[in-house]
Amino acid sequence: MEKEASLYHIEEGKIQCDLCNHRCIIPDGEHGICGVRKAKNKKLYTQVYGAISSRNADPIEKKPLYHFKPKTRAMSYGSIGCNFSCKHCQNYSIATAKPGDIPVEELTPEESVKLTKSNECKGIAYTYNEPTVWFEFNYDSAKLAKKEDLYTVYVTNGYMTKKALEKISPYLDAANVDIKAFNNTDFYENISSAQLKPVLETCKLMSEKGIHLELTYLVIPEENDDEESFKELANWIIEELGEETPLHLSRFYPSHKMLDKDPIPIKTLERAREVIIDQGMKYVYIGNVSQTQYANTYCPACDELLIERRGYSTKIKNLSDDDLCKNCGEKIDLIR
Ligand code: SF4
Repeated sequence: MEKEASLYHIEEGKIQCDLCNHRCIIPDGEHGICGVRKAKNKKLYTQVYGAISSRNADPIEKKPLYHFKPKTRAMSYGSIGCNFSCKHCQNYSIATAKPGDIPVEELTPEESVKLTKSNECKGIAYTYNEPTVWFEFNYDSAKLAKKEDLYTVYVTNGYMTKKALEKISPYLDAANVDIKAFNNTDFYENISSAQLKPVLETCKLMSEKGIHLELTYLVIPEENDDEESFKELANWIIEELGEETPLHLSRFYPSHKMLDKDPIPIKTLERAREVIIDQGMKYVYIGNVSQTQYANTYCPACDELLIERRGYSTKIKNLSDDDLCKNCGEKIDLIR
């Protein structure tokens, strides 16, 4: 499972990883922040090549991606490690694991594609833990997947370098990027040990490269739930990515090291949705709740119900085959 890393360089005898914006300088025998990349004998190695901690054939809506290949299933793979250390991580058992900590299944990129097809999935999602930290494997897997006419998806914190995104982008169809806070600049430092700016740069570059992009914003009480944050986030998305970018407001539940806070009230999420739509965003969803009408897609022009989602069951309703609202003719932004 150890393989030489693909993105690093040596400067003045020191190894620097070029995969994510931490850009760790790693002394011989030590690991980078993510805990899964090790410097050894003047080379950098990934220690998780093909180390799969979790896999499942998931509805694409679970990623969440609501405007990309609706009603299809994506073979979803996760490995171990993460370059963030979010106090509220919901997948901390794999994200904080180091090589050897938990059992993993060893897969080749060929097997990852074969399993996708045998499970009748239309594509692959690299998810559950941050795909950037097991880049080499998912890059090889995505390359093969494209040859087999499968789609590929990243569910990511967006902290990859421009170099890494440039490399994977020809083989990446869609991504859901987590934006963890917007105008609380301390949040990324204090809660996730990272910075917001590189995440926003990744979103812009994905959009420029034509990668279908949806965003997730986990709303946490007293951390990122103020009205100003919602307004500024909406304005930034509209200006830089377009008002048609789907945004998923996800409900916080106490988890990992953030057990002292209550779940965010659903009313706060509904108010946030209203504020963001008032700023001009077209598709704003509420997720991570058992049942809500705001998981549905409504026509941004006439409010007609177009796609109904209950749990992970998706029904396309008043939408023509060429994605026009059957009530008013509005073109809906959807990749089938
Ligand atoms: S992927 Fe990021 S956290 Fe991991 S070694 Fe490279 S720069 Fe450091």
